[in-house]
Amino acid sequence: MKSKKNFRPESLMMSYGYKPELSEGAIKSPIFQTSTFMFKNAEEGKAFFELAYGLREKEQDEELGLIYSRINNPDLEILEDRLALWDEADDCAVFESGMSAITTAMLEFLKPGDLLLHSAPLYGGTDHFIHHFLKKIGVHSVSFRAGQNREQIDEVLEKTGMADRLAMIYIETPANPTNSIIDIACCREIADAHQTEESQVYVAVDNTYMGPLWQHPLKHGADLVLYSATKFIGGHSDVIAGACCGSDEVMKRIKTLRTFLGNMASPHTGWLLMRSLETLKVRMEQQCLNAQKVAAFLNDHPKVTNVNYLGLIPEDSSDYEIYQRQYESPGAMLSFDIDGGEKEAYRFLNALVLVKLAVSLGSTESLAEHPATMTHAGVDPDHRREFGVTESLVRLSVGIEFIDDLLWDLEQALEKV
Ligand SMILES: *Cc1c(COP(=O)(O)O)cnc(C)c1O
Repeated sequence: MKSKKNFRPESLMMSYGYKPELSEGAIKSPIFQTSTFMFKNAEEGKAFFELAYGLREKEQDEELGLIYSRINNPDLEILEDRLALWDEADDCAVFESGMSAITTAMLEFLKPGDLLLHSAPLYGGTDHFIHHFLKKIGVHSVSFRAGQNREQIDEVLEKTGMADRLAMIYIETPANPTNSIIDIACCREIADAHQTEESQVYVAVDNTYMGPLWQHPLKHGADLVLYSATKFIGGHSDVIAGACCGSDEVMKRIKTLRTFLGNMASPHTGWLLMRSLETLKVRMEQQCLNAQKVAAFLNDHPKVTNVNYLGLIPEDSSDYEIYQRQYESPGAMLSFDIDGGEKEAYRFLNALVLVKLAVSLGSTESLAEHPATMTHAGVDPDHRREFGVTESLVRLSVGIEFIDDLLWDLEQALEKV
């Protein structure tokens, strides 16, 4: 007999984890629009709660029974099983937004007095949470930049005088909007150097920009992978959601806190994301093919002075080695400087016809925005300049449109500059 083949995630997105016989043979999972689930008898209810509250260990092959949709729901469970496949994670938890996935992870693994080391720049919402909320509850933070090596990051840590209290390293790579990259394995080494038997240092990676297809942080030593599922995973600019993947050990803690914060996704959101996952790979691959052509076009254009795209990293730079080791594709996100300043960038953005002027990213339609005055308006102007977020920088998320139509649009908008 043939042994069961190890199917690739893209082959499993249509059916994995769903049993049609439990839903009248429906080929697709229905939306389980219900708040609560009936127990067969009181003994069953007791057994389910014992597991849910960790009062006993799971029996072999026992799964958590359905109780209440804040704790579990079939749409979320099937979606989580499917999402975990891409990162080869033990488990996954989905949330009502990317921010709720990120903040839940930080709240679970950080306590007052701890030190958080993070890369900069970070997504604005994450940055705000660290520097306002976490600060208020006594969690300290310090940042490093892409391009800093192990010695320089160690120096940043030592300068705080709190290196022994390091509890989490949180990074975004590639960084938004400049596409600068950070070595995840190096962050793991730093974490290992600071953890003791009693206190672990967790490495968390926001993989929204490249995942779950093109970067697999767990393989490079991360403990937690976080997503704004609003972006590539959702992929149609019609849903807000988030996800977190990791080992059984960390996910048990994340899911427990999610139960008590009550920030799980709804069954309808779960269903929408399952629908999105069926086309995740074809969408992202087409987006990347288009992005490579757009990057080459912009790179040759006289009115463009600089293009930030992973596919254009020079082979003789130190970043190239990280790129080769950590990424499976140059991705579909790029940013570029238009010759001039804010005025020229605005003229270009206002002239676009097919590409839409909006924040967010990873969707089927191409989106352009001006980081300095939009997504990164809240970042200190000195820091903005330091990170390369200039007045002339435009960020572009490349969609699945016909490539010649996209190039036509970019060309005619650049002509107006
Ligand atoms: C959008 C985004 C988030 C926040 O996700 P929401 O779904 O909007 O809450 C976090 N990180 C990155 C990199 C993002 O692009």
